[in-house]
Amino acid sequence: MKATAAVCEAPNQPLLVREVEVAEPRPTEVLVRVTATGICHTDISIIQGKIPFGMPGVVGHEGAGVVEEVGSGVTTVRPGDKVLLISPSCGRCRPCLIGHPALCEVPALRWGGGRLDGSPVLTMDGKPVASRFLGQSSFSTYALVEERTALKAPDDISDEILAPFGCGVVTGAGGVLNVLKPQSNQSVVVLGAGAVGMSAIMAAALTPAARLIAVDVVPERLALARELGATDTINGAESDDLTAAIKDATGGGAHIIVETTASTKVLQSALPALARGGVMGLIGAPAATEQVSLPVVQLIMGAMRIEGIVMGDGTPPFLQALMRLHRDGRFPVDRLVQTYPFDQIEQAMADAESGKVIKPVLTFGA
Ligand SMILES: [Zn+2]
Ligand SMILES: [Zn+2]
Repeated sequence: MKATAAVCEAPNQPLLVREVEVAEPRPTEVLVRVTATGICHTDISIIQGKIPFGMPGVVGHEGAGVVEEVGSGVTTVRPGDKVLLISPSCGRCRPCLIGHPALCEVPALRWGGGRLDGSPVLTMDGKPVASRFLGQSSFSTYALVEERTALKAPDDISDEILAPFGCGVVTGAGGVLNVLKPQSNQSVVVLGAGAVGMSAIMAAALTPAARLIAVDVVPERLALARELGATDTINGAESDDLTAAIKDATGGGAHIIVETTASTKVLQSALPALARGGVMGLIGAPAATEQVSLPVVQLIMGAMRIEGIVMGDGTPPFLQALMRLHRDGRFPVDRLVQTYPFDQIEQAMADAESGKVIKPVLTFGA
């Protein structure tokens, strides 16, 4: 099967739209015709060489599409089904078995660049191309994925709205609803109003939290955050003391801080603004070498916690619940999305980088 993919040949080079060959599905695999894919900062970090992945390679991990063909052992989807591509998991390790597939202990499913046995999923001119990026490699007209990565989705959510549920949306919403779980009258501060932060805000708006404070440096994003449920906003560009601004907005300290900016500087200045018993959820990932220093005594005396969160600890039932909330008009992901035709991928990435667009989604002509 031939596909058209955006191939990254070397770090920091423009992507080349090239014809690639997709392998035949094995018994546990599903061939998906990709109809839309979101662009996430992790894709851009790979393309810029900040996170290692095989090159030449195809990234993309917020795919949605239609099942074209299934392997003989596949039971959960069939040809013609609309599917959301989700984070890969083995289904057999301990986290998978106890209901936390986002913590799956088989990293090669995400970063291995092919099947677990090393055989390529994509080839170009007869040579292997790194694929299965975060289980997908959706910057391509076809993606060959494991059955567990293809989740059946309702037909009445349009593809370009569905696509970002698989990473950005589940990461922000799951961080709030599955892990941090705001209680009655608590204050929630969301650092960064990008796709993950906005998803966290929309999710927190569904909880009994009393104050919901969005922090960003782009006034348009803060205005949208208010429309999506934020009760207050802090423009970080106008405030030289983020700690004081958060304490002020929360009446003394935040019960929950959701860190999505990936800036250790922002993290460090927000941390002392936690209330007693408060928790900061770390979602945005800075460079692996970055460190912060901790106000240890304050953390101990205040019984504060810092918690790392991967993919919102999402599960297929949780994703189905989010899709249902969206269909019921209670979770308007459509407000975050701007579409681009696939051949404008460079422009879409530039707009994501500059912050002009919250969630660029590439669409593929039928
Ligand atoms: Zn992502
Ligand atoms: Zn696993």
